[in-house]
Amino acid sequence: MGQYVAPLRDMQFVLHELLHVADELKQLPKHADIDADIINQVLEEGGKFTSEVLFPLNHSGDREGCKLDTTTHEVTPPKGFKAAYEQYVAAGWPSLTCDPEYGGQGLPMVVQNSFYEMLNASNQAWTMYPGLSHGAYECLHEHGTDEQKALYLPKLVSGEWTGTMCLTEAHCGTDLGLLRSKAEPQADGSYKITGSKIFISAGEHDMAQNILHLVLARLPDAPAGTKGISLFIVPKFLPNADGTIGARNPIFCGALEEKMGIHGNATCQMNIDGAIGWMIGEPNKGLNAMFVMMNAARLGVGMQSLGLTEVAYQNALIYAKDRLQMRSLTGAKEASKPADPIIVHPDVRRMLLTAKAYAEGGRAFSSYVALQIDKELNHPDEAIRTEAVDEVALLTPIIKAFLTDNGWISTSEAMQVYGGHGFISEWGMEQYVRDSRINMIYEGTNTIQSLDLLGRKILLDNGNKLRKFGEKIRAFIEENGTDEAMSEFITPLADLAEKVQKLTMEIGMKAFQNPDEVGAAAVPYLRVVGHLIYAYFFAQMAKIALAKQDGGDNFYKSKLGTARFYFGRLLPETAMLIRQARSGSANLMALDADLF
Ligand SMILES: Cc1cc2nc3c(=O)[nH]c(=O)nc-3n(C[C@H](O)[C@H](O)[C@H](O)COP(=O)(O)OP(=O)(O)OC[C@H]3O[C@@H](n4cnc5c(N)ncnc54)[C@H](O)[C@@H]3O)c2cc1C
Repeated sequence: MGQYVAPLRDMQFVLHELLHVADELKQLPKHADIDADIINQVLEEGGKFTSEVLFPLNHSGDREGCKLDTTTHEVTPPKGFKAAYEQYVAAGWPSLTCDPEYGGQGLPMVVQNSFYEMLNASNQAWTMYPGLSHGAYECLHEHGTDEQKALYLPKLVSGEWTGTMCLTEAHCGTDLGLLRSKAEPQADGSYKITGSKIFISAGEHDMAQNILHLVLARLPDAPAGTKGISLFIVPKFLPNADGTIGARNPIFCGALEEKMGIHGNATCQMNIDGAIGWMIGEPNKGLNAMFVMMNAARLGVGMQSLGLTEVAYQNALIYAKDRLQMRSLTGAKEASKPADPIIVHPDVRRMLLTAKAYAEGGRAFSSYVALQIDKELNHPDEAIRTEAVDEVALLTPIIKAFLTDNGWISTSEAMQVYGGHGFISEWGMEQYVRDSRINMIYEGTNTIQSLDLLGRKILLDNGNKLRKFGEKIRAFIEENGTDEAMSEFITPLADLAEKVQKLTMEIGMKAFQNPDEVGAAAVPYLRVVGHLIYAYFFAQMAKIALAKQDGGDNFYKSKLGTARFYFGRLLPETAMLIRQARSGSANLMALDADLF
């Protein structure tokens, strides 16, 4: 069932040659000892674990799915998932970036980011069990009391316990202000939580001793809307003071969703019948606290699609070199065979290069953002920390939406390379398409990400964050503007940077008169900005490749070819997207709903 080999060479290129992470990390006292060798070693081990342990469970997990025992409410994930999790825990993977005070290894986010790409490439459904736990760890680490941290963090760090995020209810998904779950204060300082949550990923399973549910609910006197939501930790088993497992808390899986993909992950309806919980953070400020988890999860979802893009590409490439159909338009390339391999055909190459370019662009961009998170958390200079905070805020919705849209495009193109064999399940390609589709929906749909980018992060900020990031692009353009060899990359990059500036101002002006203009432009706008960022990173990668292409390492020739394909074939999409974004809200809003 295909293969997955972690793309270590490209990861190392991005981390060491493009981003110089070891030098950057030297500026952060917490990570000053991390060098390139340590990073490479972690990634090599990660590559082995993901291709040898997780990848073999991907297709079988999809076929088998999860099972709910309706009497005990226990869920059994597919065969092999629990054993793989035990191996993951034994190897210390859950603790990679966690705080040493709670048993973590304290490695930087930028390393974990690459590891998460591998995890998701090899098995997205499995990865969601530990992935959500890490989000719960980050939320508790930032907002928990000292007692809560002492009790829960070591268990999450070691992987003995896992976590979930319980936001969604049947009538409320995007609009969390409609949330109805209730939290009644108890005399001992705890709360009794009652409500019904749906679509809870990894909501119930037997892979860990205990599950810590982070649940959004309302206090009795809470104001309506999002300003009246608080966050609670609701363990499956109530912990004793010494961290051992106590009584079963009444938070049960009532049903498992039947769904399009990620069958190996338990998507649970959770019934909460007076379960004991404890508040995290302040009353009515639950969404603030939950945002830590949601932001981590948004980056994580981007990595899900990056992983799927990579694994789909790798397998389509092998197939395209092997499958013989028709002759090349320019004459037989393998005359001794009855037909040429399909990789000779221009359009098969277009499909492969689309996935390759989106994988390499996404890897460069997401690694950059992960490094900014390390700076945000650990840089000693406050001004640099603030700059990093702003950049991460600006770029997070783009990671979530652009990488996941591109994951959908790429897995679909990779499936198409297989012709009919892609559509049947034997080759595993249709699973990547199915699995990737959810990434555009959960953690805030991609529409919501685009509204967040254009409305909150750009227009409400008077374009300041975007302008600051634009200055980096402008500096790169100025530095390389006179280099003739770079002009094929710099000219379109500069052109798009100018167009984005004009487009942003134009939408901003229109939005003053009519707020629907923002909603009408946001989705194509995010894609245009996503392309601007990829063009910036591909231009930087092309510069390195141009300098090293004659050194005998074909990696650089490949990189240059991908950059040229990106600029020639994918970036031009921006012309259409800009026209769409500029076309205004009238063509969307003119029809009354009953004329649809
Ligand atoms: C497999 C799976 C796993 C999930 N895991 C979790 C989990 O672990 N925890 C959890 O809490 N939730 C989880 N979810 C829920 C997920 O986050 C929601 O489905 C998602 O946020 C969208 O909410 P909704 O489904 O209610 O759609 P709705 O909010 O009803 O949206 C319907 C459509 O309307 C659009 N829309 C809504 N408001 C606007 C607006 N203002 N402007 C423009 N368009 C708008 C949306 O973009 C969407 O296209 C999961 C869902 C699935 C399917």
